Amino acid sequence: MSHVVLKGITKRYAGHNALNGVDVSVEQGEMLALLGPSGCGKTTLLRCIAGLTEFDSGTLSIGGVDMTGVPVRKRPIGMVFQSYALFPNLTVRGNIAFPLTVRKQPSEERVAEMLDLVGLSELGDRLPNQLSGGQQQRVALARALSPRPEVLLLDEPLSALDAQVRHRLRDEVRRIQHQIGITTVFVTHDQAEALAISDRVAVMNAGNIEQCAPPAEIYTAPSTRFAAGFVGNRNTLELGAVNGRVTAGGAFDVEAPSERVLCMFRPEDVELSTDGPGAKAVVDVTVFLGATTRVYLHSQLNGHPASVFADISSRAAAKLAPGDEVRVRVADDHVQVFPA
Ligand code: ATP
Repeated sequence: MSHVVLKGITKRYAGHNALNGVDVSVEQGEMLALLGPSGCGKTTLLRCIAGLTEFDSGTLSIGGVDMTGVPVRKRPIGMVFQSYALFPNLTVRGNIAFPLTVRKQPSEERVAEMLDLVGLSELGDRLPNQLSGGQQQRVALARALSPRPEVLLLDEPLSALDAQVRHRLRDEVRRIQHQIGITTVFVTHDQAEALAISDRVAVMNAGNIEQCAPPAEIYTAPSTRFAAGFVGNRNTLELGAVNGRVTAGGAFDVEAPSERVLCMFRPEDVELSTDGPGAKAVVDVTVFLGATTRVYLHSQLNGHPASVFADISSRAAAKLAPGDEVRVRVADDHVQVFPA
């Protein structure tokens, strides 16, 4: 049985649905990322699990126990917010001990264990304002974990941090989650973060989960047009089909579900050659990105002008210049096709 089970969760705010009957489960020890654009409902869903927001219909169970009517403080959850939300007048140790003190549980040993887990053993006597943002978020994580919750809920915990600290703490959160094996739901609008940190990603759009799958599957086999467009860089071409197929001037040849289709493919899946198979294209500009170079091209596909970009190794790109004629090809199974 799944650890956290949400069925048909609906939440309506004046005039619009924030959640449209969401079904999702989280397995024991799994890290699930809720990923989607601003306003898609990910925070609302997380708050429903926490009990901070009441949903209008649907059911939620944690560890097989129905959470209907169970107040926030009685739920077996720990939560970390974007804004740290530490008690400013309590030391690091005091903050981490707080949930244990409230529960009248002994804290000394557990606090030391938590300080060690988040790598802050030396800083237990500091006040929050004597810590960096990354350190404060570690304290918030330790405080959330100290009473041994069953489920950890993280609401954009890294988004207030600068890029370097964010990346380090992202990997650290993953290490800690693995180490203690806690079931975790992680809200983020940052796709790189979601792909890097989670076992599965739920891609949300307008109050619905569009696709819920492991990161590699979300990336290579998006099941909806939204998921394909939201995660990673993609070429998108609108093309007409003939006899149920799109041939794209030799660049690829795929089955078409309708007369006009959107063909989507990753820039790293575009193969460029000077004399191989494929559609003729002309290089417009190359942009050096370090290990790879992005090559912008224009082509005629099925008689229509089409712009394509490709990410290729910078070594290969060094041989290309604007105006060069090349061949463009994409393996058929790397093209996702959706009705236009
Ligand atoms: P963000 O990344 O910007 O935080 P989100 O995906 O977490 O976005 P939610 O905060 O869950 O989105 O909001 C979903 C929708 O519900 C939005 O349209 C939002 O405006 C609306 N909403 C959220 N909270 C309330 C509220 N208390 N009252 C009215 N509408 C709300």
